[in-house]
Amino acid sequence: MAPTTCSGLSRFLAWPKSKHLLRITLAFLVATGSACKPQPSADSEPGAQPTPAGPPPAQIWKEFSGEKAFAHTKAQCNLGPRPSGSPELEKARKLITAELERNGWKVERQTFTDQTPRGPVEFVNLIARFGGSDKTQQLLVLSHYDTKIFDTIRFIGASDGASSTGALMELSRVLALDPAFARRVELVFFDGEEAVVQYRQTNGVLTDGLFGSRHYAKDLAATGRNKQFRAGVLWDMIGNSKLNLTLDPESPPQLMQEIFAAADDLHARSAFSISDRTILDDHTPLNAAQVPTIDLIGFDYPYWHTADDTLDKLSPQSLQTVGAVTLRWLKIAAGQKAGSSATPKQYVGE
Ligand SMILES: [Zn+2]
Repeated sequence: MAPTTCSGLSRFLAWPKSKHLLRITLAFLVATGSACKPQPSADSEPGAQPTPAGPPPAQIWKEFSGEKAFAHTKAQCNLGPRPSGSPELEKARKLITAELERNGWKVERQTFTDQTPRGPVEFVNLIARFGGSDKTQQLLVLSHYDTKIFDTIRFIGASDGASSTGALMELSRVLALDPAFARRVELVFFDGEEAVVQYRQTNGVLTDGLFGSRHYAKDLAATGRNKQFRAGVLWDMIGNSKLNLTLDPESPPQLMQEIFAAADDLHARSAFSISDRTILDDHTPLNAAQVPTIDLIGFDYPYWHTADDTLDKLSPQSLQTVGAVTLRWLKIAAGQKAGSSATPKQYVGE
């Protein structure tokens, strides 16, 4: 593949070859009624924190349902195009919030206004936490839920926006099966990942795109909450039925190894490869804020930013694979952070 340049709608920037220069660049970046109703669990009522029926599942990654994630993905798509600031995106927020609350999560709306090439836009990140505290979270799982605005095509972002969002909604159900585990994880749905025109830097600062993650990361650093997180996983474009997750070569090395190990354990390693290009995405501001974050992105997707990014290109199995691998990693990583001697440092047999 040829290196991509800054032109057009590319989400790749022509980053400097030097890692030192790259780090400087990243430092500047941070300075600045659905078709498928989610099924409530049998032991929960709307608005109430569900009480798991039994002990937490020992292999919680097996609880992730690609079919349920796909149903949420479909519900997002059914809203139509969902660009930042649109009424459709507010409907998307309502769907996400209702499902998260049904699963026992508290959802904070992080609202802010930023300048875009089309004028000021109000953005809303949704931050979900389990339990009453914002101090217990050590791991992040992230998605963007906006779709890129186009004047000439009807773009519904089945993989680019809806797939990762639907999977994150399903992840909230699974994590709630183990409340102590869920309290260690923060789920964030970013607004404004997409550039209004194109990803652009002015004086080394990104001025279009990644609005939500830049704001969230800046807030994490300002409040010191960045120090409580061991690592994060970003999902983006994970629905392609021909799943090929093309990881950023600049991903934190240890985190990449941990993800590969989890994928190996679940016989899914072949779905992961390393891109030959540096990837600019919502993980970039998080890494600049000292939260090691990896982007599980299926950029090898011929329908990217076209009217053909539709549900028929997706498969529940792809969502299942990404959900299960991430859960497997989360479970191990949560144990490591806790420093419990009972938690194995290495992956062992089932
Ligand atoms: Zn996009």
